[in-house]
Amino acid sequence: MAAWRVAPNPDQPDASCPHLGEAHPGVLPATRQGCVDCLAAGTSWVHLRMCLSCGHIGCCDSSPERHATAHFGRLGHSLIRSFEPGETWGWCYRCELMLEPDPS
Ligand SMILES: [Zn+2]
Ligand SMILES: [Zn+2]
Ligand SMILES: [Zn+2]
Repeated sequence: MAAWRVAPNPDQPDASCPHLGEAHPGVLPATRQGCVDCLAAGTSWVHLRMCLSCGHIGCCDSSPERHATAHFGRLGHSLIRSFEPGETWGWCYRCELMLEPDPS
């Protein structure tokens, strides 16, 4: 999983994301236990997201604490991907664009 690109979107055919370079090519999940911030605080999560810059695992915006978005707000890491089994999509917080793995 080396690189990411903007997912094709008929509504925004010319969309581009200048932050794709923030994705770290060899990034690994910081943990497989779950949202690190929820585990520390004893709160619960709905879905998990992984930061493509540093591997931070945080919870989604359907979760009460929204730790993935909080991580973006705190550290400015723009890109996440789903950390749910079978899901490969990504997201840029700054551009608000869906991303997908770039196979090339
Ligand atoms: Zn972007
Ligand atoms: Zn959380
Ligand atoms: Zn990060």
